[in-house]
Amino acid sequence: MPTRKLISVVVPAHNEEGNISELTNHIIDLFKPLDYSYELIFVDDGSEDNTLNEIKLNARLQSNVYYVELSRNFGKDYALKAGLALAKGDAVITIDADMQHPPQLIKKMLNYWEDGFDVVYTYRETANKHAQIYQRITSKLFYKVINALSDVKLENGIADYRLIDTKVVKQLKELDESEIFFRGIVKWVGFKQIGFPYTPSKRHMGNASYSFFKLLKFAIGNIMAFSPRPLYVSAGIGLGFAALAILYFPYILISYFEGYAVPGWASLIASIEFLGGMQLFLLSVIGIYVGKIFAQSKNRPSYIIRSTNIVTAARQELDF
Ligand code: UDP
Ligand code: MG
Repeated sequence: MPTRKLISVVVPAHNEEGNISELTNHIIDLFKPLDYSYELIFVDDGSEDNTLNEIKLNARLQSNVYYVELSRNFGKDYALKAGLALAKGDAVITIDADMQHPPQLIKKMLNYWEDGFDVVYTYRETANKHAQIYQRITSKLFYKVINALSDVKLENGIADYRLIDTKVVKQLKELDESEIFFRGIVKWVGFKQIGFPYTPSKRHMGNASYSFFKLLKFAIGNIMAFSPRPLYVSAGIGLGFAALAILYFPYILISYFEGYAVPGWASLIASIEFLGGMQLFLLSVIGIYVGKIFAQSKNRPSYIIRSTNIVTAARQELDF
């Protein structure tokens, strides 16, 4: 009898108490009739509530449920990265802990995978009814900007709910980027991909972890991390204004020789201020990139694990 394929389900969790057992039970029920082995890996991303204890409780009850405790809150993408690094499956499925990603869609993902697709991703079908108005606006704007600025196209509302074949996971692990934006990078690696829409459910318990400013920081950070194009755009704007200034120069000369230079003072000051503002803006764009080079050059790990019950080859070696 051929051995069954192993599916790793990776769940990032930040303050998700009350949701862990719910999701675990759904996953167990879902895999019961299916001909796959599976492991369920929860990555606790620095939760301040009872999340980790709930995960550990489930890990004690089920031999294929694992916990990975990060040393602090690193952010969802880093929790996913940690989970992917430890997943052993022939395919890895990433899913939110709060039941907003309907678990029954996993079957559909597995079918596509068996048909030969390497990545099966999902995107929100309709405007997210459960999101706040500011979340909807930032989300829309975020996808507009990132699509305009990068080479890969991201569907509006593309989710971190996807299946990734082990060969793609291997490629993702080899990327040596300290800043990771999974939704972009998974598209960027290519392979055979297919996406389908889903309707998000209501959050089971608790609140979303992202505040307005966290979302804004996330959006700007990810756009900058994913694309060098803002640098080109800013250089273009800078050049454009420099050209305008050159066109303006004859007017300044004429007004000087015609003797009405002093009335021109106001427009001069206005343009100096405007150009000064532009320069500050362009410098800050460049500054953000320099900051990112600085962060990467320090070569810090992008996450730190405090504890886990997953035994890896490296850890086994250490034990001997
Ligand atoms: N999450 C995380 N670290 C964070 C924020 C969120 O691991 O810093 C997890 C969270 O527990 C959930 C998923 O990422 O499983 C999505 O987060 P949330 O529901 O807060 O966001 P939204 O539904 O608005 O995308
Ligand atoms: Mg959510």
